[in-house]
Amino acid sequence: MSRTMLSGKCATARAALRLALDFALPPLCPSCREPLGDGIGLCASCWSRLSLIEPPYCVRLGIPFVFDPGAGLLSMEAIANPPAYDRARAAVRYDDVASSLVHQFKYADRLDLAPMMGRWMARAGRELLADANALIPVPLHWRRLWARRFNQSATLAGAISALCGVPVVHGGLKRVRATPQQVGLSKTERADNVQGVFRVPGENKAKIAGRRLVLIDDVLTSGATVDACARALLRAGAAHVDVLVFARVVASARGPI
Ligand SMILES: [Zn+2]
Repeated sequence: MSRTMLSGKCATARAALRLALDFALPPLCPSCREPLGDGIGLCASCWSRLSLIEPPYCVRLGIPFVFDPGAGLLSMEAIANPPAYDRARAAVRYDDVASSLVHQFKYADRLDLAPMMGRWMARAGRELLADANALIPVPLHWRRLWARRFNQSATLAGAISALCGVPVVHGGLKRVRATPQQVGLSKTERADNVQGVFRVPGENKAKIAGRRLVLIDDVLTSGATVDACARALLRAGAAHVDVLVFARVVASARGPI
């Protein structure tokens, strides 16, 4: 038997063994890959490093403040560059732990993380969900959906809906053209990249017009994507659009103005 064939057989055996172990071992912490004792969520150490976003924050953008300025104050960004949506809320800061959670969820098929992430989102967005008529997942282009097999925003929306009872409108928004990944683009480039990309399909206009909606996404970076989505929903007659994400990028500690 040739050396190549032998190493090929070894690789197959190793893969089979790994598969068998995956079934036998307890689930791993999605962030640090240590085995989890109780079987779900994050390990205690990663949990303690996760940065939940709590008040005080800008009532409009949900950006945390370093000190409490009193009720109802806006951040500099909200005044200088008001978004199309009304309010945005995020469960956690997008840091190392949050990014590995999102990465495992999105690219490693860890769909079992959705109920936990959805629970944190429902908690962070409780005032938004209290008076919402429907949840709208940020759509993927069909080609990306086909490659990934699921839309992470729709999965999160489903988990939130199961907790708060607000229904998900699937197909409420459509991505009419594929866009390059936003990674590495400036704020202006991100806004240009998603300009005119989202549309409410004619057959779903009745589910949007006059409704109070909450857009659902996994990560908010510059806000360009959810802003373009909100514009499309408002153009189709939505009464009110809020945004709820799992994690948001927080550039630095900011004070109110
Ligand atoms: Zn961990």
